Amino acid sequence: MSQLKSLLLALAVFAATTAVAQATTKIHWYGQAAFRIETPSGGVILIDPWLTVPTNPDKESIAKLGRVDYILITHGHQDHVGNAVEIAKKTGAVLVAPYGLQFNLKSMVGYPEQQATIATGGNVGGTINLPKAGAKVTFTTAVHGSELTPPTIPPAAPGQPGAVASGNPVGYVLQIDGGPTIYHTGDTDVFTDMKLIPEFFKIDLMLCAIGGHFGMDPVRAAQAVEWVNPKAVVPMHFGTYPILAGTPAQFKAALDKRGGLGSRMIEMKPGEDRSF
Ligand SMILES: [Zn+2]
Repeated sequence: MSQLKSLLLALAVFAATTAVAQATTKIHWYGQAAFRIETPSGGVILIDPWLTVPTNPDKESIAKLGRVDYILITHGHQDHVGNAVEIAKKTGAVLVAPYGLQFNLKSMVGYPEQQATIATGGNVGGTINLPKAGAKVTFTTAVHGSELTPPTIPPAAPGQPGAVASGNPVGYVLQIDGGPTIYHTGDTDVFTDMKLIPEFFKIDLMLCAIGGHFGMDPVRAAQAVEWVNPKAVVPMHFGTYPILAGTPAQFKAALDKRGGLGSRMIEMKPGEDRSF
């Protein structure tokens, strides 16, 4: 009888563990730096939402969006702001962005004011709660630029949009309740303060730019991975244009030279989903 009890107890524990394991976080990559993250509580977060990126195989991605709770934007460049305003108007999503960028997105390109208040306009080192998604997000340094090119600014030259400085660029560490801790690098070079990230967070998944030209190439990105020390890394921000020439194969080779870190790389294709 006690054996039967033990067996039943073991089965109950197994069932409970399985139930917990099923509460996964779903990650969808649209291409470039654009991700959709669905948290175990059902919340939906978009990061750098350029859903009409040419490499996205699904041309109906915006139409297919249901609930979106938050839009996180790392900096003002067009390939990161993407379709944020259209999506915000359609879904009511709240904007999380560096304060200077948030201000310009409201005043210059029409991001709905009530969805972009100081409650979610932050800056490097700050952490903001995202209660509707069961998560919190910390703004991290990125070494890059953050010019916005709104159509309301006179063109700098024929065919060349005018640009306006929009705060400093950032990356994000997203801590998801009952789910992974995710570091999105934004556009950046590798920099030694990346060593601070694992002092404060245990990163499960790093979404790492590797394209080069405007930021880290695969070799420099591999150094970033070594310092951040994530359990897994997904390369992004490559191949959208020929100029973003870094490849996952080069990244994996560079990671392998750093103590076999290549085994941590997960190669996703635009349009693909993964669960964590
Ligand atoms: Zn950029």
